[in-house]
Amino acid sequence: MKLMCSTVVEPSYSPPTRKQFLKSCLSIGRQSVKDDNIYILLQQSNKNKNGTKYRVNNIETIFSKFVHEGMATIRFKSPVEDISIRCDPLQLKSFLHVLKLALSGKMNPAVMNLSNLEPKKINTLLKTKIVIKSAANYPVLEGFPRTTEELHLAALERRSFDRQILKLQSLKFLNLSDNQLTSLPQELGMLPNLQELHLANNQLGKSPISKWSWMNGSKIVKNLHLLNMSSNQLKYVPHQLNKLQNLVSLFLNDNSISVLPQGIGNLLKLKFLNIAKNNLTYMPGSVRNLRLTDLNISDNPWKCEVDNDFYCNIKVPSLLDIAAQVIKRKRIYYDASVIPFNLVPFLDKANYCLCGLACFGCFYRTFKLAKYNSIAQNTKFSNVRSLEILYECYFCSARCIRLYSNAW
Ligand SMILES: [Zn+2]
Repeated sequence: MKLMCSTVVEPSYSPPTRKQFLKSCLSIGRQSVKDDNIYILLQQSNKNKNGTKYRVNNIETIFSKFVHEGMATIRFKSPVEDISIRCDPLQLKSFLHVLKLALSGKMNPAVMNLSNLEPKKINTLLKTKIVIKSAANYPVLEGFPRTTEELHLAALERRSFDRQILKLQSLKFLNLSDNQLTSLPQELGMLPNLQELHLANNQLGKSPISKWSWMNGSKIVKNLHLLNMSSNQLKYVPHQLNKLQNLVSLFLNDNSISVLPQGIGNLLKLKFLNIAKNNLTYMPGSVRNLRLTDLNISDNPWKCEVDNDFYCNIKVPSLLDIAAQVIKRKRIYYDASVIPFNLVPFLDKANYCLCGLACFGCFYRTFKLAKYNSIAQNTKFSNVRSLEILYECYFCSARCIRLYSNAW
């Protein structure tokens, strides 16, 4: 069995200091079929390439109290030294299970999950970038290395999401462009490190409303920086998108979207927004809260005249409205496991006043004409008839109308 991990080796009982962990591979195995001794082979990056072998019966203790956090230490009798290990908790548990079986001597080595102890190039073992260029090379049976941080599965004509991807706890970059995916699994939102998700040229427009729940995952909400859903036949933007609060780049170009959600103006870290080649006729007023670097609004049928459509729904706010505003203002995480499931879309579909406050049952709504080049440093606008386009504006109070209405 092999374990990709980070390790540090030091004399036992040395004083606690800040340790420098090195990328490593630990293997449990035998020298040959005839040899009954079981060894641990430790290979560390930038260290001796043949690695260091330790006999399993030379182990004094295995410290595994923090195995659920992905940490353990193996202490040897001679030389008196410790290997401290950090890695994925599940893999560490299986590794220690095999090691303890070997240590007990109760099991026949022939039936244990042992590896050969031939040292391999550590960089090959610790591969972090995987590019699959053809369906013939797809690792259907063996899966992807658990160390994968960057995975490219573009243009493979895949119709379904490969659930092996959900096991890659280190994955930061996932490219599934140019396939035929119609939906993604909910568990994708729980990958702990995913930062970039490329989904261009798929068929996510066929995804039913219930299949966008991956955007609700507590991990993806915090970590995702880039989302590319261009050319997906999208007719609408799923309201869950408003939760991806750390998005910096969002590509929704080449779809059939007719309305952008007001909540897009609550993605305060957004810098790059491409909404070219859609069916948009007006922009949510909340985008005025953003400080965009690049905006592409080309090739949309933007309306350039004001519809005098003033709607006033000001009343005493309900307790639900007030509570929902607090959740939005304090950016408290919520999903159906924390609050009643019917309140999740209620919160997701919030509109936003120009003061930044979320509006629920109590608001003014009107349309305003304003220049589009004032919301981004660089704006692309080919095939746009006028310098001004229509914005759908929400105001939370009469005070905000007075403050912001003339600032356009
Ligand atoms: Zn307001």
